Amino acid sequence: MTRFVGHGREQVTTADELTSVEDHLQAILASLPRQDPIELTTLDSLGLVLGADVVSHTTLPPFANAAMDGYAVVASDIAAATVDRPVRLPVVGEVLAGAPTTPQVGTGRVVRIMTGAPVPHGADAVVPVETTSDADGEVAFHRPAAAGDHVRLPGEDMQPGQVLLKAGRRVQPADIALLAAAGVARVLCVPPPRVVVLSSGDELVQATREPGPGQIRDSNGPMLSSMVRAAGGIPFTTGIVPDDRKALMYAFDTNLGHADLFVCTGGASAGTRDLLPDVIGAMGEVATAKVAMRPGMPQIRGLISGTPVIGLPGNPVSAFVSFEVFVRPAIRRLQGRRDLARPVVSARATQDLRGAPDKRHFVRVRLARESDGWTATPTGAQGSHMVSSISAADGLAVVPEDVEAVRAGEQVRVQVLVDG
Ligand code: AMP
Ligand code: MG
Repeated sequence: MTRFVGHGREQVTTADELTSVEDHLQAILASLPRQDPIELTTLDSLGLVLGADVVSHTTLPPFANAAMDGYAVVASDIAAATVDRPVRLPVVGEVLAGAPTTPQVGTGRVVRIMTGAPVPHGADAVVPVETTSDADGEVAFHRPAAAGDHVRLPGEDMQPGQVLLKAGRRVQPADIALLAAAGVARVLCVPPPRVVVLSSGDELVQATREPGPGQIRDSNGPMLSSMVRAAGGIPFTTGIVPDDRKALMYAFDTNLGHADLFVCTGGASAGTRDLLPDVIGAMGEVATAKVAMRPGMPQIRGLISGTPVIGLPGNPVSAFVSFEVFVRPAIRRLQGRRDLARPVVSARATQDLRGAPDKRHFVRVRLARESDGWTATPTGAQGSHMVSSISAADGLAVVPEDVEAVRAGEQVRVQVLVDG
């Protein structure tokens, strides 16, 4: 792992000092602990990953029932029915959905039946009412039926012992229906990770305050907390921590108990007040890296008492892009998810997109759908302090390390910033 040299200015960084985006991401993912599953009520499991197979103890449907409104019949009784020579049979009763008992159906008699009602003993088919006609207290059948027609059989949906949902599955609304139908009240799930966001910097004031001379509002704290939430984590915040060793140590110490992951911004590079690497190193393990990306080159990863720490640069655009590239996948991995990356589309660049020598350039773009496919247009000034450029973006266009520029009219891959 490369230590910082010089003053962290990209101009002095040579290609062999750089760590690839993939290597830094893999190192972070490899440092993540496994989250122990917890038992939750079925409704609360929506969107979470199952920690164990869910097995049915139920037969569904629990009893043979009608798939249509119509008549429960003995199929052989109407085997000869045709439009010209209908078979007429007497109706001896009616069975509604929810009926605890049913009338007996014998040869030569039928029972009116509703969808979902238990099929009476003796009957072996249901004839839809639409294919019959009334005939003076009797019902006329105009076509034959086969045994089993429009009858839902017990156990055809689920059987006792059957695996309903496999460990590793992310629970969808339809799965909640399956679990409810099976009477499963609680399931083992990977809990959402608790992510503590730490904003550091002597110049920062709370976003709700009026900044004094030389001060700016902390925008990374609220942004990262919301990104944590959008990624499926539970955000906590330490509040603003000054560039001070003791204050930083205190912030880590007092939040360790409820952190599955720390995400820090500011103090990550090589300024005289960039203390995070030293502080994390003093409390645990730390590795700093110059990652081959723009924005977001200076990155920190570490471990304090087994809790992973990711340190992002303080510039808001750098923090945003590095969260996308490193933290979002980590939060999803902590949730037990396997789909870590954003969806990617190919889009036509409407302007030249400059590459960054030896680095992967993530260009904030707006996507539009035209008749010939997607287009990607930069959201304006791309300076790493430009909060407006990230707010306007719905995609990150990726200009690869070895590409000087994607020219207007050429295709570029764009990571789509949609949550789902
Ligand atoms: P640093 O990574 O501490 O060197 O900060 C780089 C730049 O990002 C500086 O201009 C900081 O003022 C700015 N910055 C750092 N932290 C934040 C924050 N939480 N919110 C907004 N800007 C920040
Ligand atoms: Mg700073």
